[in-house]
Amino acid sequence: MTYYSRAKTGLRPTRGATALNPADVEGIALHWPAMSGRAHTVAGVQALLRGWQNHHMDTNDWSDIAYQEAIDQAGNVYELRGLGVRSGANGDADVNRRFGALLLVVGPGEQPTAALTAATRERIAAHRARFPKSRRIVGHGQIRPGGTQCPGPAVQGLIGAGSFNPQPAQPAKPARKPSRGRLVDAVIPKLAKARRRSARTDNKPRTRKLTRALTWLRKIKEA
Ligand SMILES: [Zn+2]
Repeated sequence: MTYYSRAKTGLRPTRGATALNPADVEGIALHWPAMSGRAHTVAGVQALLRGWQNHHMDTNDWSDIAYQEAIDQAGNVYELRGLGVRSGANGDADVNRRFGALLLVVGPGEQPTAALTAATRERIAAHRARFPKSRRIVGHGQIRPGGTQCPGPAVQGLIGAGSFNPQPAQPAKPARKPSRGRLVDAVIPKLAKARRRSARTDNKPRTRKLTRALTWLRKIKEA
């Protein structure tokens, strides 16, 4: 994942930013763009973002591109308004006050990649670190007054499956045992069984040999 600042993407300066109030923020909404094709290069995504910013500022007369951040199919993240700034994407002032807004750059009929899904989880974790009361992850259509098809069936399905839920920190896995240790572990029970059989048949020299081998192996295991 690479994080591209506004400057790197070549976005125009905002005409005004309103900070979100952590007391108001209860969730984050996922969006898809109105795009007919696909964008699979950083330069291609950046050109689209500049175009959408122009449309939002010049045609819609908004203060900036509507979303807080964008995430592409390679898992790259693009700063737009920023996670701390109120979006203009969710439908009206009330839902913009209560929800953040991420733009997933997924074309129609395109499945979100594992890289996009993982980067989105990571950005939602960053959003929650900033807004501790935020618990909901919704598709735009779930909160927009009047509804909308956004973010499309594929993203909406992943929301339903919990694929964007940030994962709790995993406990560190214990280090793998060295291979000699694993070999010794595998051999000891076999030798012990052989020794029991040997003792039953009263084969004293063989039993002694096996006992010595077992003692030696257990010493290796403890070393
Ligand atoms: Zn939307």
